[in-house]
Amino acid sequence: MHELAIAQGIIGGACEHAAGRRIFRVTVAVGTLCAVVPDALRFCFELAAEGTLAEGAELIIEQVPARGHCHRCERDFTLHEPIPLCDCGSADVDISAGTDLRIRSMEVSDPCALPADAAATARR
Ligand SMILES: [Zn+2]
Repeated sequence: MHELAIAQGIIGGACEHAAGRRIFRVTVAVGTLCAVVPDALRFCFELAAEGTLAEGAELIIEQVPARGHCHRCERDFTLHEPIPLCDCGSADVDISAGTDLRIRSMEVSDPCALPADAAATARR
């Protein structure tokens, strides 16, 4: 099951950053091209969190729209389908966002250094 492996990856990364502290909430950014079903991911997260620092933690899923860049007309646009095709008809398109999943922020029992790439979206 695709989502279970992803959930285990999230929890592994979160527990590492938590360094022994209790995790209350994890926010992940999920690209729309990851083909992740949010409900399934939440369910798997709960299962995979059992017995870890993240047990009972809330999982917040932010969907990140996929972005493409066309080499023919040099345009950036939002991709709605997994097949990159520009309005100009060119398929010479780079996918620049929306294919990855990462931890954006997390809340633990104490203030905690966030992953470097999450610093800009600090906790509320
Ligand atoms: Zn184009």
